[in-house]
Amino acid sequence: MAVRELGFARKPVSDRPVLSSAVCDRCGAGKDLPLGRCGACGCVPEGVERELAMLCSSHFLDENERKQLAERIRRGEPLQPGASARAAARALLQPGEAEWVLKPRELILLTLANLLLTPLLGYAIWFRARGGPAGRQALAVTLPCSLLLAVGILAWRMLG
Ligand SMILES: [Zn+2]
Repeated sequence: MAVRELGFARKPVSDRPVLSSAVCDRCGAGKDLPLGRCGACGCVPEGVERELAMLCSSHFLDENERKQLAERIRRGEPLQPGASARAAARALLQPGEAEWVLKPRELILLTLANLLLTPLLGYAIWFRARGGPAGRQALAVTLPCSLLLAVGILAWRMLG
């Protein structure tokens, strides 16, 4: 039975690797998580930097290679991974980054909320998920709702 199946929330201390499992691609310091904040320079990998961060970790490099990499980064050598290496890192990152897609039920709820409460809700979701499918979905539902509300308010004003 794996230790983690026993319900321990944390890894036992002895399980920690002697050398940190990742190398900061900015300063060459070791860190425990490739995507975590570097304790030495404080940088947190974002966007495409995450690919580079994964490539500098135990996912791709063994202990020796990480040592060499750390030395080269400290010497100031630029990292220039090829397209295939980057693609491999991207594939590794994808499962943890499931794209946010709104389900049909959520879209109906959002439409109702937009009409009954405020379309700001839809715009908030669009803003949170801009660039992703959920953002496009939210906008596609919210824009017509706003228009409908605007026309409704205008008509109500003119009639009243
Ligand atoms: Zn660093």
